[in-house]
Amino acid sequence: MTLTQNTQRAALLAGVVVLALLPLPDFWITQLNYIALYSLVVLGLVLLTGIGGLTSFGQAAFVGIGAYTSAYMTVNLGVSPWVTIFVGLAITAVSALLVGWITLRMSGHYLPLATIAWGLSLYYLMGNLDALGKYDGILGVPTLKLGDWDIGQGRPFFVFAWTLALLGAFAVLNLLDSRTGRAIRALRNGSMMAEAMGVNTLRYKIGIFLIAALFASISGWLFAHFQRTVNPSPFGLKMGIEYLFMAVLGGAGYVWGALSGALITKLLEDQLQVLLPRLIGTSGSYEIIVFGIVLVLVLKYLPDGLWSLVGRWLPKPRRVDDWANAAPLAERAKPALADTVLEVQAIRKQFGGLVAVNDISFSIKAGQIVGLIGPNGAGKSTTFNLITGVLGLTSGTVTFRGETVSGLPSREIARRGVSRTFQHVKMIPEMTVLENVALGAQLRGHKGALSSMLRLDRAEEQSLLKEAARQLERIGMGSQMHELAGNLAMGPQRLLEIARALCGDPALLLLDEPAAGLRHKEKQGLIAVLRQLRSEGMSILLVEHDMDLVMDVTDHIVVMEFGTKLMDGTPEEVQQSPKVRAAYLGMEH
Ligand code: ADP
Ligand code: MG
Repeated sequence: MTLTQNTQRAALLAGVVVLALLPLPDFWITQLNYIALYSLVVLGLVLLTGIGGLTSFGQAAFVGIGAYTSAYMTVNLGVSPWVTIFVGLAITAVSALLVGWITLRMSGHYLPLATIAWGLSLYYLMGNLDALGKYDGILGVPTLKLGDWDIGQGRPFFVFAWTLALLGAFAVLNLLDSRTGRAIRALRNGSMMAEAMGVNTLRYKIGIFLIAALFASISGWLFAHFQRTVNPSPFGLKMGIEYLFMAVLGGAGYVWGALSGALITKLLEDQLQVLLPRLIGTSGSYEIIVFGIVLVLVLKYLPDGLWSLVGRWLPKPRRVDDWANAAPLAERAKPALADTVLEVQAIRKQFGGLVAVNDISFSIKAGQIVGLIGPNGAGKSTTFNLITGVLGLTSGTVTFRGETVSGLPSREIARRGVSRTFQHVKMIPEMTVLENVALGAQLRGHKGALSSMLRLDRAEEQSLLKEAARQLERIGMGSQMHELAGNLAMGPQRLLEIARALCGDPALLLLDEPAAGLRHKEKQGLIAVLRQLRSEGMSILLVEHDMDLVMDVTDHIVVMEFGTKLMDGTPEEVQQSPKVRAAYLGMEH
């Protein structure tokens, strides 16, 4: 996916020049104009649905806002289209933020329903407002002009619309290949991991909903001035479904898939509109039935769309390791050696009648590795979740570096310098190892969506990637950084999570069964890294079943059983404790 900035610019320029010179007949120019307009909408759906996992049937309504705003203002108020586009974008932004803010905080299934409702209500609103000409719409919309040059029709419009569509495509590609893009790509795998990396998942969801709406609005603006008339029908639910169809058919996960989906759908629709009424004998929009059937087939047999077939044959662009000279990221001030870093006081978690964590207390000093051991189900992972804010406490307090952090969301606790791994590995399989690890450095970067789209984030991005590569080298995975994370064996997946956690520049590291599934050599490597981290003053809380490893590296051990603290002490004390032996003898270890 990574092309250098210059190659991208060159490709874009070449694309536009080729389009301008292409000796296409007028009929095809018109068709391709529509395809450019559709592409803009579908590009938004790539971000929203294909990458972000949020389904919207309501994109046509945002197209409508862009189209109606410009039509109304140019016809009735005489405002220039070059001004109305921004008014349309502003109205779109306000409605998208409102709709997104209300629906995106609810669980995933509400969004599709809400977007249907939104699409329908806007359609009827457009159709019933006198000011908007009811179902007849607004006629006599002016064409787009640059000075005296009419660029609103024919070939000039064709070049203009495709320039915008291609710019949109590159903007989305750039966005996906950035700090913001990694956060967006983390959204569909549930919010727990992303939030633990400091990502405000609701904000990012609203963000992609907004970007998709703005793309649709630009398409609507173009549409109004190209058609020279607007009425509600192209902005109704049927079209909303069709946009989604284009995205899914082409491959909603791929930018070029979206564009091909728009192309194929338009061509297919043209053919079907002629063919089907002839076959059936009466006229009507029967193509929507065929689309429905095709959609079911694609979802069943080719869930990644047609582009996944093409993509297989394309050479995989390899990321160039161009971060050698990148500035190192700033590091947080670390606690002084032997300062208390974490203080856990009588923390408790009840799941209904089950007391999973029963008034547990312990503390960790800087430069200390504390082991948390106990049979399966003892409450170790739940303790992790309480400390990191993934779960709310029933009672008790957690103090990190002198500040009470219990009650804060997990991303805020991460921001203060607590990093963790998960017992059940949580990563993005379709991202490379390097990108997954860079997600851990999310809070150490600041560039947002707009900088990424315009490629103004490169210096920071290189610093983030450099840090990710450094942590991967440190944990012995440097040679695998460009592999897809989903192709890793279990052991390396765990190491990936440790490297990702280290990217957060933590003062406290929580590792949940890091050695499970590791081979002997990987384990030795892990032990060496843990020792090195401790010597650098890192505090570590370690849950692990490999007793040799635990006894080897920890300074202090807390033993849990059935949610309660059985004892705590040095590794020697724990090994010699009859209570601990009794607890473990009953278990299979
Ligand atoms: P450990 O990590 O020590 O093996 P856990 O912390 O995962 O133990 O689990 C402790 C107890 O809490 C177990 O009995 C488990 O079934 C229960 N538990 C953990 N998470 C939940 C949850 N989200 N809802 C209900 N019960 C849970
Ligand atoms: Mg566990």
